[in-house]
Parts: sequence; structure tokens; C-alpha cells
Amino acid sequence: MTSLPKNNEEAVSKQIRMSPLSALKGFKDLLPEEARQIQWLEGKTHELFETFGFSPIRTPILEIASLFNRGIGEATDIIEKEMYTFEDWDGGKISLRPEGTASVVRAYIEHHLSYAPIAKFYYMGPMFRHERPQAGRLRQFHQIGAEIMGDPNPRQDVELLSLSYHFFRKLDVNDITLEINSLGCPQCRPVYRLALMNDLQAKISRLCEVCQRRYQSNPLRILDCKKPACKERTRTAPRSIDHLCPECQRHFKEVQEGLACLEIPHTLNPHLVRGLDYYTKTAFEITNNRLGSQNAVAAGGRYDGLVETLGGPSTPAVGFAIGIERLMQLIDPTQIPKPSLPLYIAPLGKAAGQFLLSLTFTLRKNGLACEMGNEAGNLKNQMKQADRLGAGHVLIVGESELAKRCAILRNMTTKMQEEIPFAKLSELLLSRLQH
Ligand code: ATP
Ligand code: MG
Repeated sequence: MTSLPKNNEEAVSKQIRMSPLSALKGFKDLLPEEARQIQWLEGKTHELFETFGFSPIRTPILEIASLFNRGIGEATDIIEKEMYTFEDWDGGKISLRPEGTASVVRAYIEHHLSYAPIAKFYYMGPMFRHERPQAGRLRQFHQIGAEIMGDPNPRQDVELLSLSYHFFRKLDVNDITLEINSLGCPQCRPVYRLALMNDLQAKISRLCEVCQRRYQSNPLRILDCKKPACKERTRTAPRSIDHLCPECQRHFKEVQEGLACLEIPHTLNPHLVRGLDYYTKTAFEITNNRLGSQNAVAAGGRYDGLVETLGGPSTPAVGFAIGIERLMQLIDPTQIPKPSLPLYIAPLGKAAGQFLLSLTFTLRKNGLACEMGNEAGNLKNQMKQADRLGAGHVLIVGESELAKRCAILRNMTTKMQEEIPFAKLSELLLSRLQH
């Protein structure tokens, strides 16, 4: 729970110092330029994910807290310390979603979506985790995610990996590293867990405090600790891939063969584990060194036990999520088209304003983007505004143009001007300026 303890002076004074005119720490406004870039990314996502056979799904941002406690696992960072959980008006505990998979699985069970042999979903939207804000780590961040439900075949793991790999290529992000591992299944993982615990037993007092706690609750996560001392102590730890049962071995071999067949470069990281409890077999992470210490841009894997854990029919599944903010840092913004304004309409005086208001509406109805100035403003100011907006052309109508029933069209690049009769105005502007 992250609600403020009552009568806690420090917390109260912190609240007082917080201004209602600043966004909360770790929460961020997306101003027009950034919002537009993200919308561009969303458009690319729709295109590509639909091509790979995924259907969109949108789940609520608030869910019953226990969905995440059960779905993500008690001994995970998210549940231990990152959830935004609070009481609803009826006293029930609800949480802002920290990730998307548990909600998609809940929807899959609730709406009996298992009727189809396999279901493929993708989503994007905000996630919330109470983390220490820093570069690449926010409290409200955004993810694009995909899930394939209903098929244990390693081909699905490969399809998902090929989608994520191709997604980065399509966005011209080429310097990524794909690391894979297999975490085994309920048959072989306990054997590995024991081997790992035996190995770490002698070193436990030299591990960090968090890892010492994890030794009992979630020893695999010790391999994920970023502290150099813990990293050094686990360098020679046993590897899950050496403890896989024959079925998990076959699965992992086929995943690797599939990646080789599609020529998707990847490396084996035998100490790659995932923060969430529900992963089985394949686990993967995509990183990029330009991102600094928060270098993971996407992560995912197979979670064959989750649907059943949450009360649904036994359903194998595999999924992944990409961090949008980290991805945006890797994308070259020059490939994102800038908005263009083909036409700025400059009325001079009330009568011209009235006439041009209806022309503006006609042009917009027909799909031509245009902006109209204030009829009380002088020409100089309106031209300045047109320049600021990057308008390609300016249409000027004042009293003398009204009298002549002709408008002036100025090309802002060549500075050439021409007169256009009112009778032909909308037809000509639409045919000339609409792309
Ligand atoms: P990390 O190790 O960075 O904490 P994680 O294992 O918690 O990542 P996942 O739950 O697998 O992350 O989420 C998938 C992706 O979402 C991450 O690879 C990252 O790109 C992004 N992500 C996760 N947490 C944050 C955050 N707090 N702020 C921004 N992006 C995030
Ligand atoms: Mg995390």
C-alpha cells in the first residue's frame, strides 16, 4: 500500500511542499510534440501488430488488487513495493495496473475467450508503479504489449520474438540485443531452484539485504540483482538451462532453431530471469546500451501456468511488453512526419471574417487542414502567426477583396501572390493544397 500514513509529519509536510500546479513526481505531461510522436508510434504499432495477426484489447486501468497479487506473485518487486493500491468507497482494495498481462488474462477468462484455438491480443496504455523516478523510470509509464494464448508450441514463442524484433527494425532501431533463456516448468524448476539455493547458501551473508530476503521467497530473482557484489557472487551460479526436463529442453531447442531460421540474432543469457513469478520456459529481454542503466526496452516470455492460477482453464501462453518511453529515446525523431499546415486564412475586418469562417468550415469538412486568424488583427500580425505555424499558403481577404469578389493567395515559400475569384475559391484550394 502506498497511501500516506495518517499523522505522519514528514509525509504531511511533503504533501504541503507539493504544488497542485506541478504534476506528481514520476508522472509526466505529454505536450503536443511528444504526444504526436507517441501517436505516430501507436499508428505503427496498429499496422504491424495487425499484420502479425493480433487483435486489439483494452482493459480497465483499475482492477481488484488481488488480481495482481495472485497474478504477479507476492515475492516480486511490483507487489512488494511498487503497487498503487487504495480502498474503494465500499472498502474493497483496488489497484492501478502495474502491467497488462494479468488484466488481459482476467478478460480472457471472464469473457470465455478460450473458445478459439488460439487468441492473439495486443494493447497499449499507461501502467503505474511506485518506483524511484529517474531517467527511463517513471511512476506512470506506457507499454505496448502482446499476448498469444492457447498454444504450447514453441513456434508461438518464435512468432512473438520475430514480431518484437521486426518492430524495432521497422522503427529503424537496429542496435538492440535480444537475450533469451529458459526458466523451466513446474517439473524441472524446483530442481533448479534447489541447486541454486545450495550454491548460494555459502555466500548468503555476502549478498545484499534484498537478496538475502529473496533467498527463501524467490531465489531466482537473486540472479537479477543489479548490485556489482551480488552479480560477482552469482557469476558461477548454476544455470537453469542445465536443469531442464526433456520437454523444456526440446521446447528451448525449437525456439532457438526458429530464431536461426528467421535469422534473428540473439544471445543466450543463462542468468536471465524475469521479475514476475509467472514465467515458465522461454524468458527474454531486449536491451539497448544507449539507454544507460535502465537499458531494458522490452521483456517477456512464456507463462503457461498463469491462466489456471487466476482461475481459468489450463491455457499455455506467451507474451511481452515494450516500454514506450524507453523506446522513444531510441527512435530518430527526424523520421516522424511533422504536422503541416497547408493554408492559413487571414480575414481583415468583420465582413471578411464572416465570409472566411464559412469557407474555413467548407475546406475542413473536405479534409483540408487550415487555420483562421482573428479578423480584428492586422495583416502583419496574422502573417507572423502564419509563419509561426509553418503555413504553406496564406489566403487574404479584406474590404477591397470583398468588393472585387477575389481573394489573394500567397505562397509562403516563393512569396508569389495571385488573385482567385470567390466563385472558384474552395474548388481551387481543395484541388491544389490537399495532398
Ligand atoms: P526493470 O528491470 O527496468 O525494472 P521490469 O522487469 O520491471 O524492468 P517489465 O515489467 O518486464 O519491466 O516491463 C517491460 C518493459 O516496460 C521494461 O523493459 C521497460 O522498458 C518498461 N518499464 C518497466 N518499468 C518501467 C518504469 N518504471 N518506467 C519506464 N518504463 C518501464
Ligand atoms: Mg521493474
